[in-house]
Amino acid sequence: MSEKIDVTGKPWEWSETTWRCLVDRARAGRSLKPANWPNGARCAVALSFDADHETIPLRDGDPSPMRISQGQYGSRQGVPRIRALLARHSVPASFFYPAVSALLHPEEVRDVAEDGHEIGIHSWIHEKNTDLTYQVERDLNLRAADVLTRLAGRRPVGMRTASWDFSVHTLQIIQEMGLLYDSSLMADDDPYELTAGGQPTGIIELPPEWIRDDAVYFNMNRFAGLRPYTPPSSVEEIFRAEFDGAWEESGVFLLTMHPHHIGHRSRIGLLDRLIQHMKSRGACWFATHAQVAEWCRDQAGLLPSSGKSESRSGPSTR
Ligand SMILES: [Zn+2]
Repeated sequence: MSEKIDVTGKPWEWSETTWRCLVDRARAGRSLKPANWPNGARCAVALSFDADHETIPLRDGDPSPMRISQGQYGSRQGVPRIRALLARHSVPASFFYPAVSALLHPEEVRDVAEDGHEIGIHSWIHEKNTDLTYQVERDLNLRAADVLTRLAGRRPVGMRTASWDFSVHTLQIIQEMGLLYDSSLMADDDPYELTAGGQPTGIIELPPEWIRDDAVYFNMNRFAGLRPYTPPSSVEEIFRAEFDGAWEESGVFLLTMHPHHIGHRSRIGLLDRLIQHMKSRGACWFATHAQVAEWCRDQAGLLPSSGKSESRSGPSTR
């Protein structure tokens, strides 16, 4: 269990030890941005889809058939469109499944895995980790890993916490599970090694960002005043600028999307045009998150974690 730090009292009255310990709990250590990408590629492109489907209303304890149907859309329309698009461009991606979503759509998980895409851990039912004790969070993630292993035919090597809600216990649980990487924390544009209490952990962080997340721009909640406020053309412009920056700096462009958001008729085209743009700039290494993490680990001479990762599909450079 993560070390207890006394955070009672006003933050401005905390001791230096307290605020240093809080900051050092899961902190960016050395950069794992490699000097080179496979086959002389200019940058790495890591596309991911968080296949939440019905689990967002379920997590909220919301029995609304309307909200649940919005999630089901992700499986019925979103994933088929995404799979077709990725196949057309011969681009691999990573799909992160809450276990309940995977159990509701077992054929989908099997088909996505058979396409050569990575299946990663994304909670049990999209629960918020910061609501949980260490024991409960650990148990749910272990059970989730077992479900995905059974459905996808191979053990997941990476985790993306639901809602990027990385708790004070998450890093320790990732280590205990022997995972290769996490993709929830945001201290850099490019991969880095996580440290705990100032000590290297061997766990690779593949940092996402809200800027590179379709949900931020497209989410909608009828009763909370949350409305999509950005047209797809503007989201495309933002994602393209993020990619161009990664290409210029020879870094990683990591994009998080959701089938029930990006999969709509008015939005899927932006992903198509984005991939076309990346290919037109050239020398992009399209890879799963696991492949990017493995490459960075090997280039840095980082010792493999105990959960040995296997790549399903070889790297493709375009
Ligand atoms: Zn999610």
